[in-house]
Amino acid sequence: MKFSKLYAPTTKDAPKDATLPSHQFLVRAGFISQVGSGLYNFLPMGKIVLDKIRTIVKEEMDATGAQEIQMGVVSPAELWKQSGRYDVFGKELCRIKDRKENEFVLGPTHEEVVVDVVRNRINSYKQLPLHLYQITTKFRDEARPRFGLLRGREFIMKDGYSFHEDEASMKAEFEVMEQTYTNIFNRLGLDFRAVEADSGAIGGSGSKEFMVLAQNGEDDIVVCEQCSYAANIEAAKRAPKITTLEAPEANLSKFKTPDMKTIEDVCNFFKVDAFYSIKAVVKKAIYIDKEEVVVFFVRGNDELQETKAQNACAALDLVDASLEEVERAGLKAGFIGPVGLECVKFYIDLELKEAKSLICGANETDYHMVGVGMFNFKEERYADLVAVKEGDICACCGGRLGITKGIEVGHIFQLGQKYAKAMGATFLDKNGKAQPFYMGCYGVGVSRLVAVMIEASHDEKGCIWNKQTAPYLLDIIVSNSKDEAQSAYAEEIYSALKQERLSVLLDDRNERFGFKMKDYELIGLPYALIVGKELEEGFVEIVERKSLEKTVVKKEEALARLQ
Ligand code: ATP
Ligand code: MG
Ligand code: MG
Ligand code: MG
Repeated sequence: MKFSKLYAPTTKDAPKDATLPSHQFLVRAGFISQVGSGLYNFLPMGKIVLDKIRTIVKEEMDATGAQEIQMGVVSPAELWKQSGRYDVFGKELCRIKDRKENEFVLGPTHEEVVVDVVRNRINSYKQLPLHLYQITTKFRDEARPRFGLLRGREFIMKDGYSFHEDEASMKAEFEVMEQTYTNIFNRLGLDFRAVEADSGAIGGSGSKEFMVLAQNGEDDIVVCEQCSYAANIEAAKRAPKITTLEAPEANLSKFKTPDMKTIEDVCNFFKVDAFYSIKAVVKKAIYIDKEEVVVFFVRGNDELQETKAQNACAALDLVDASLEEVERAGLKAGFIGPVGLECVKFYIDLELKEAKSLICGANETDYHMVGVGMFNFKEERYADLVAVKEGDICACCGGRLGITKGIEVGHIFQLGQKYAKAMGATFLDKNGKAQPFYMGCYGVGVSRLVAVMIEASHDEKGCIWNKQTAPYLLDIIVSNSKDEAQSAYAEEIYSALKQERLSVLLDDRNERFGFKMKDYELIGLPYALIVGKELEEGFVEIVERKSLEKTVVKKEEALARLQ
């Protein structure tokens, strides 16, 4: 493509509301233009990038056997009423009426429509599993459309929907999709994590988000520094099941405990799922409200009791982090101790509050400590003896957890039978019995990814595209377009590279070199070939956009260097 013909209206100034680099640079470099709040057009270079991403997504989806379809942007409200989402989806769902007052919606996602696509057409388990997907425009009337393509109201999503005869088949496809998404984001060269997530308005049980790690992300994600554990902060916070113990003084007999030798014994006794160990609390300290939490350590009334209590805790694996570690995590430490033989009263030995007491269990002689508690100062409520099997801090190796910002680029869900049941979509199983489908659904933010590529890779001068997504691989910049030798050489190498099927831009505009170079840096193609004065001596320059390093090469060698 010759720059003199390319429609790429580059500008010096970014739109006033553009705060993020991707928004600023994509507009300034002429990839996109805004037509309304959250509404964008893709100009020629933007369209090339979009299509490249779309192609990667399509190739990876097709490789799994999923089949591409295309559903309409407008769908009848009736389908949304059947699923029950017409009322609950909220204002993001754009509702419209036709001239006859029939109600429609602009599809923000297509579970309802795709159920209608297979309903009464897939009749037997023999036709399952089936996975249909599309790459199309969605409309969500976002409360705060912003950040350019990152949060548009109209945007392009790849949304796939799979149908299964049972849960096992649905889960198997979920794993296939997890791998497929991993392939897609690896091919795009992005630094991402698959994180445990909430299911949001889409519903269903298991769900994972794919988050690109980026400073400007809107999502907080918790990641382990040593292993692959990662969770959306909402999911991470939700993991512990917090159970409030009844004020126990009223019922002391309840605390005459059986032998509690294992953590399960303790849990059974308190009817909680599990306890935090101190280490778990320390790890979670990065995202719990520190003001509300005190980690208790055991303190006996005398040496013997203290030893016993400490041993009990050790036996139950509860005291697995030191006072220093607790304090380093920014948490307050409190001390608790036995005050009687029949029970243990917990005292908080902090200057904050004199403690009320909480009898928290223990048997007469052996155990004087049952766990790590939290004291909720805001509500003046004791020890929601808290949660969690170590397993809940999943999958994690026990390494340090940190919070990082992420941009959601994909989301996969196990929907179960929710939609099929609500919409009466059934098939005949092996026994000839009608069953609702099990479903999965899987989204990729295709247009959002265009911006994500730049959030992940830019400098103060502009975009830095990688080869997988760049609109062109190379910009041939003629330093002085009035110089015939320069123009002739540039044309020659431009044709040769095109013959080799490389995508090349030739900046043949009658502009100053500095102006063209600025545009090159703003647009951010992987390489530039500068044809300047040195051509007289037989040399040209190759620039790598990422490092802005220049290499002088013999003009005969330029072609080979660029292939
Ligand atoms: P977000 O949390 O960012 O609002 P979402 O969870 O509502 O996204 P999903 O329903 O999971 O989005 O849709 C699948 C994918 O579509 C998302 O992972 C995201 O990449 C993309 N997407 C969602 N909303 C938008 C939007 N307003 N603009 C651009 N892409 C979007
Ligand atoms: Mg959303
Ligand atoms: Mg989300
Ligand atoms: Mg989502």
